[in-house]
Amino acid sequence: MPHKKILIVDDDPDIRRVVETALGREDRVFITASNGVEAVEKAFSELPDLVILDIMMPRMNGYQVCRLLKNEPLTWDMPIMILSAKYKEKDRLYSMSIGADEYIVKPFGVEDLIDRAERLLARHPKDDKACPVAAHAPVNETTLLSRVNSLLDRKLQEMTFLQHITRAIVGTFDEDRIMRTALQGIKTEVGYRRSALMMLENGALRERLSLGYAPGERPFIEQGLLPEIQTRKEAAVLTVQGGAVNQRCVVPILFRDGLKGIVFLERGLDEPPFSADRINLISTLADQLGMALENANMYRTTLHLSITDSLTGLFNARYLYERLDKEISRAKRYGHPLSLFMLDIDYFKRFNDTYGHLSGDEALRQVALVLKESSRGTDTVARYGGEEFCVILPETDAGSAEIIAERVRRAVEAHPVPTGAGEESVTLTVSIGIAQMPPALSSAEDLVRVADKALYQAKFAGRNTVRIFKQ
Ligand code: GH3
Ligand code: MG
Ligand code: MG
Repeated sequence: MPHKKILIVDDDPDIRRVVETALGREDRVFITASNGVEAVEKAFSELPDLVILDIMMPRMNGYQVCRLLKNEPLTWDMPIMILSAKYKEKDRLYSMSIGADEYIVKPFGVEDLIDRAERLLARHPKDDKACPVAAHAPVNETTLLSRVNSLLDRKLQEMTFLQHITRAIVGTFDEDRIMRTALQGIKTEVGYRRSALMMLENGALRERLSLGYAPGERPFIEQGLLPEIQTRKEAAVLTVQGGAVNQRCVVPILFRDGLKGIVFLERGLDEPPFSADRINLISTLADQLGMALENANMYRTTLHLSITDSLTGLFNARYLYERLDKEISRAKRYGHPLSLFMLDIDYFKRFNDTYGHLSGDEALRQVALVLKESSRGTDTVARYGGEEFCVILPETDAGSAEIIAERVRRAVEAHPVPTGAGEESVTLTVSIGIAQMPPALSSAEDLVRVADKALYQAKFAGRNTVRIFKQ
């Protein structure tokens, strides 16, 4: 077994000694550095198996060292344990965000230090997780510092990009727009032309949007990978042999810890590698995306509930009036006819009294079904109240409305309704009143009132019939 090398970086010689004593073993070699610049130089020249790093040090601090090492091809997977006097949670989070593998607060427990150091030393290189960024060769203090600065610049650019995209995607409830904005952002700011969003639907990933694929070409992900993505819940890079793509990256879109979908990226030969930094950036974007899509979904559901009648699934009266207002304006603008009919179940009280309210509810659902099936796609079918329904018929005069209403009436009459009492089913009849929008100005309320009057005339005529309103 080759000796393991540990680099201890601290400006305090006592701490260096304590750490060395704690971790000392025959098969270990220790190297030390007392400032950040020396730490980076030794990390490059000695390639240690573990770096134990102080934060507050002269010349270059531990954060800068950590960020630099984690962004260099030679050292990006070198385990780094930060040993710091900074005890606040934000310091720990910050250290982890720049790539540190462990964070221990001084004064530390020796047992804890040994425990965590052993774990890092035993770890395999994380070669399946990410690949190195473009090569740089920091040699002296000036180039090191300029490298630190350019890394900071890049971070700032990334933050600005994230902020920009986040603002754009939380500013809308339009799912397609949210998805497009995110993928466009990845293309222009991160540099991957071919990307796709696949959402989890009924246990499978379904492509919702893709960018950059030629006609006939499709993003492809084996559904067999899904369980792995679901358990890992973190980004993975898959290597592909040959072709115009050499790597694929799958970034999960999570919400409340559940997988909602994935961002799928393919890296062309001329495109930047999937570095840990880029993957982090895309993962953060995917988190925002998960939230934005969930908000959009919640908005859609709320909107749907607010215009839907829960018993029948038809539109409710509120939506009917809204829609009628719009149809009236349109009919006026284009000089088209517009009709409305109102339908009421005959002797429905009797049905309820005989078979009970639950059967009554089922009967209402059945009538709603017939109504929906016998109307056209352009018609709006709504439950107006108890056992009353309305249908808006755009571009339809009273004569044509009568034909449609008559079709509905006959369909209801022929439709068996279960009564809940054994196998027995019965049929119901309905009365329908029709109103056509008069040429003079009229409101939605006026039109409904006229249809209601026509309905009364149908009832008066003996029920199970259709009537156009007559003065
Ligand atoms: P008509 O032929 O004159 O319309 O007689 P009708 O019995 O249908 O009319 P009425 O207005 O007297 O009774 C309507 C009944 O519709 C009363 C009520 O029990 C029933 N109803 C209204 N809403 C619901 C509902 O949501 N579920 C059930 N099961 N019944 C309802
Ligand atoms: Mg009735
Ligand atoms: Mg009624």
